[in-house]
Amino acid sequence: MIKAIVVGAAGRMGGTVISTIQEAEGIEVSGAVERPDHPFLNRDIGEVAGLGEIGVPLVGDIQRAIKAGEVVIDFTNPEVSLRSLEVSSGSGVAAVIGTTGFTPQQMEKVAQLAKETRCVLSPNMSVGVNLMFKIVGEIARILRDDYDVEIVEAHHRFKKDSPSGTAMKLGETVASALNRDFPQVGVFGRRGVIGERTPQEIGMQVVRAGDIVGDHTVIFGGLGERLEVIHRSHSRDNFARGAIRAAKWVVTQPNGLYDMGDVLSLK
Ligand code: NAD
Repeated sequence: MIKAIVVGAAGRMGGTVISTIQEAEGIEVSGAVERPDHPFLNRDIGEVAGLGEIGVPLVGDIQRAIKAGEVVIDFTNPEVSLRSLEVSSGSGVAAVIGTTGFTPQQMEKVAQLAKETRCVLSPNMSVGVNLMFKIVGEIARILRDDYDVEIVEAHHRFKKDSPSGTAMKLGETVASALNRDFPQVGVFGRRGVIGERTPQEIGMQVVRAGDIVGDHTVIFGGLGERLEVIHRSHSRDNFARGAIRAAKWVVTQPNGLYDMGDVLSLK
């Protein structure tokens, strides 16, 4: 039985991970961590998640829980996830990080810390989205420069980072397949008399509304036709299931930084 410590345990994703683990085989919740001023500290995390008591209290510091587990599952924010990785790599505990919004400097730190343990980091843990990463790269390589690429993402009103980590990775994947530099060709929103679209640019459009779990569309627009690849998440369950699949996989891997493409053998 794999013992998992969930960081951000009372959050939207943390709560879904806890309830999905309770239904999964071969893995159990052995630790639950929240911010030090969280009102539910010391309560049983099963009760917090509405599942009944599971004998795991919610603690306010990962250091207090780290010895209880073999893998940390963290959906929080970049600063907190970096600390989780620091503590887990210091204790030889594996990590699965679903947090998005890391800066390039923070990503360097993640890569450094992952040398000391095994870590899966993915801005989107869903199987469908990871297949989408592969497919859009292949489509871009086939269509080459004749088709304009636009990426549209939509999420709930509470999302803090924009564009989503998934949309950024879709942009990077397409840019790399077309031998373009994404920071140079990414165009984030358009307004005013800006002139005609350049052939090289990759447009990024963002919608924030209500309780949309997460939609991503990549448009390949040609003259006389367009091809669209669309993924829609109906609930958070698919992210939690992906994170659990990653947790079971990563505990048996050598040290290093992996993504869901590795977990799902899509490379
Ligand atoms: P949320 O705000 O509901 O949850 C985050 C939780 O982290 C909160 O409960 C917060 O109290 C907790 N937290 C803050 N400081 C902490 C600390 N010091 N120690 C422990 N916990 C702390 O947010 P969410 O919707 O669950 O999303 C969390 C992250 O996961 C975001 O970056 C989001 O973009 C990302 N996300 C990724 C995927 C994926 O598949 N990779 C899917 C959905 C969301």
